[in-house]
Amino acid sequence: MANKRRTTPVRKGRPTSKSSKHLYFFGNGRAEGNRTMRDLLGGKGAGLAEMTNAKLPVPPGFTIATTVCTLYYEHKGKLPSAIEQEMRVHLKKLEAATRATFGSATNPLLVSVRSGAKFSMPGMMDTILNLGLNDTTVEGLKKQTSNGRFAYDSYRRFIQMFGNVVLEIGKNAFEHELEAVKRERGVKQDPDLDEAALREVVTRYKRVVQTHAKRGFPQDPLEQLGLARDAVFRSWQNPRAKEYRRIYDIPDHIGTAVNVQAMVFGNTGDRSGTGVGFTRNPATGAKEFYGEFLINAQGEDVVAGIRTPKPIAELQTLMPATYKQLRDITTRLERHYKDVQDFEFTIQDGHLFMLQTRNGKRTGYAAVVIATDLVAEKLISPKQAVLQVDPEALTQLLAPIFDPKAWAAMPVATKGLPASPGAASGQVVFTADDAVEWTRQGKKVMLVRKETVPDDIHGMFVAQGILTATGGMTSHAAVVGRQMGKPSVVGAGALDVNEHGKTLQIGKGISLKEGDWLSFDGLTGEVKVGQVATKASEILQVAHGELKGQKSDIFRRFNQLLTWADSFRRLGVRANADQPDQAEIAYGFGANGIGLCRTEHMFFGEGRIAIVQRMILADNEADRRAALNDLLPLQRSDFYGVFKAMRGLPVTIRTIDPPLHEFLPKREELMVDIARMEATGRNGHELEEKRALLKRVEQLHEFNPMLGHRGVRLGITYPEITEMQTRAILEAACQLTKEGGKAVPEIMIPLVGDVRELRNQNAIVRRVADEVMKDRGVKVKYLVGTMIEVPRGSIMADEIAQEAEFFSFGTNDLTQLTYGFSRDDFGKFLNSYREHKILERDPFVSLDIEGVGKLVDMGTRKGRATRPDLKIGVCGEHGGDPPSIAFFDEVGLDYVSCGPFRIPVARLAAAQAALREKETD
Ligand code: PEP
Ligand code: MG
Repeated sequence: MANKRRTTPVRKGRPTSKSSKHLYFFGNGRAEGNRTMRDLLGGKGAGLAEMTNAKLPVPPGFTIATTVCTLYYEHKGKLPSAIEQEMRVHLKKLEAATRATFGSATNPLLVSVRSGAKFSMPGMMDTILNLGLNDTTVEGLKKQTSNGRFAYDSYRRFIQMFGNVVLEIGKNAFEHELEAVKRERGVKQDPDLDEAALREVVTRYKRVVQTHAKRGFPQDPLEQLGLARDAVFRSWQNPRAKEYRRIYDIPDHIGTAVNVQAMVFGNTGDRSGTGVGFTRNPATGAKEFYGEFLINAQGEDVVAGIRTPKPIAELQTLMPATYKQLRDITTRLERHYKDVQDFEFTIQDGHLFMLQTRNGKRTGYAAVVIATDLVAEKLISPKQAVLQVDPEALTQLLAPIFDPKAWAAMPVATKGLPASPGAASGQVVFTADDAVEWTRQGKKVMLVRKETVPDDIHGMFVAQGILTATGGMTSHAAVVGRQMGKPSVVGAGALDVNEHGKTLQIGKGISLKEGDWLSFDGLTGEVKVGQVATKASEILQVAHGELKGQKSDIFRRFNQLLTWADSFRRLGVRANADQPDQAEIAYGFGANGIGLCRTEHMFFGEGRIAIVQRMILADNEADRRAALNDLLPLQRSDFYGVFKAMRGLPVTIRTIDPPLHEFLPKREELMVDIARMEATGRNGHELEEKRALLKRVEQLHEFNPMLGHRGVRLGITYPEITEMQTRAILEAACQLTKEGGKAVPEIMIPLVGDVRELRNQNAIVRRVADEVMKDRGVKVKYLVGTMIEVPRGSIMADEIAQEAEFFSFGTNDLTQLTYGFSRDDFGKFLNSYREHKILERDPFVSLDIEGVGKLVDMGTRKGRATRPDLKIGVCGEHGGDPPSIAFFDEVGLDYVSCGPFRIPVARLAAAQAALREKETD
């Protein structure tokens, strides 16, 4: 495909506050807006317009566009007079449509004022009902309905809501008066208050307003409307709305629309009611009408939990005709939107009105069930199904599961970064060795560390979950956790871990010791004290061969969806996997190859670290070669296993990358050991060994190890390491080829910034590869390439491509080195950066497209200028992140590579990227 480029995301069709039209009318079968205008009208406004156009029973009204919210903030809370004028024009239209008049003593127009942003933010912003009531219009309402109780109940609700939302008077002040009146009149329930009692409540409420707001309750409906509108705009910035946007990555600048709509009343008597529902079950995806309602109630009664709503099926018995109408309408809506609808309705004196419809939020499980069902029902095409499911939702299907009720019943102890999804529950241990030992005894453990280091890997492997106090989303624990599919929560700052004392403090109140039970949800980052039962998901049971695919309904659907996705995607999806068992899973999940095999992870396998240490401690080449010779068969057998698991698909193997000191004990620990041995008079061989080790550790000590003697620099100073690794790779490939199998090795040199570095290593690799193939009498096709992960690598990519047959962007290091943020310590100040709006997202999770993305784009262009057929991929953590995948698709990479358990997400995200690109072409 043509190499299309764009390095800055463009927001298409964003309305600006400069447009001249700001209000959009809907009513009597015609609306100025429609479903495509969510940017401008918000989700609710667009839905109301669409339903009106579809001739559904929708009370008329108008939507004040999101652009007005922007203007409200630009003008420091005062709107231009042109908008006030537009409001008056639209009110006139609304009066005409309802044949009622704002402020009329005989036939008053009453409205609701409701927020509605582009993305639904349930319950986060404010709403006001019954607006337009005052001391005069309440009498009009009474006359109209011949129901004084209803009129005064509506008025007291309005004062309460308006007082709370607009005048910011605490709810308790009103509740207190209501309770007092009930008490004085010997009444238990709200509905038992008669008109006289409610008049008394109104009088008291007005007094509350006077006392707290130092003004009378506004009687002018126009003033009420202006104040309510502005309060809704302000609610965009309330703390819970801000937090919700942060969690769900909703941009702060888009603002909310406000919907002003003629009131319909669900509280006029027993032939009225209000409710909410879904056209399918949002938790399981089952095709069943799902929802709740209350007879003789207004919306807030449902939310406030004063009365328990009834299942919607009961409406069929109570009001069969209305129930049928509701079912017909919502079925039509589902067919129209081609997706599950989440709707709100009100019944006034037997007449049904629709107040909202939107695509329903659902669990990952339900998303897959619904998408595949809708295709089977021929409502949508496979392409639409692929576009409908959020790729991230698929991780929920792989994660072990808690019993939801038991989990909800436990209080949250703290929260960390949700690094790897899944439910984990185990007994706390503080070292990797303890994790292994306890597991051997049949216990389930939770490995809790300040931070993890590479030689914790054996403990991480056996633990149910990994919990750390420091570190960000690409810290060691996070990367390894995701790769293993191990639930992980990292950077839980409230943890105070005492690894020596084997105790754990969570905040001020909770103290735990080794063996205590702890649980966390790796999808939300919530940590709780205690034990909760978990089990593997069905998808994983299939992947591990414990359950037959055909036997699992959810697996069949999951597989179907991903097979459709594969038919649309352009990007290859590979796995970051180091071991044969991980490669098996990657293959099982449909990986197109291995994009990164970190060979050093193999060094931590059983019995290997001692040999690696021997290699490092050698002070001459001969000793080093001897140690490497011992490592050779071990690496060869790993590579053989990985090649075999991948059944002829390409396997990218990276030569050694981390600084050598990571394979040695910590300096401080050695010093303590030596001091202890000296103090107890334990001289001899062991002490000498420790001293030698300490000396070497001190020699290897670096101030900035991440910028130090690592990557290609190791291969240049110790060419025998590159030689041994090449030999192991080629010998394994020759062996498999001889046995009739197929291996496609791609040897990758890390951290290259200068073509001469790569030239040096390339020569070694090719020399050894030729030797091995000659020696074995087998020819194996292999490639030599490099990682682009230091900025100079991108800048000089045209030169580097002379030596490289492929590039793989290491966006973890590239992000670290472009920003100059340490990937292991960044978690400490990420939150401040978010609070100050310096960063909206963690750039180690989602690629910084504007900055680091430019280097990816430049490196790709320059590399291909030298070598048009250069194969280019990405193997940083961003390779499994959907927005980053969309960018990689756009710049024309050949593949993304991510942890085996992210492969389904990446397959779906790559398909969506390709389909959306086509849409915008
Ligand atoms: C990278 O830097 O993006 C990369 C994949 O290498 P590592 O994470 O092993 O440094
Ligand atoms: Mg790297």
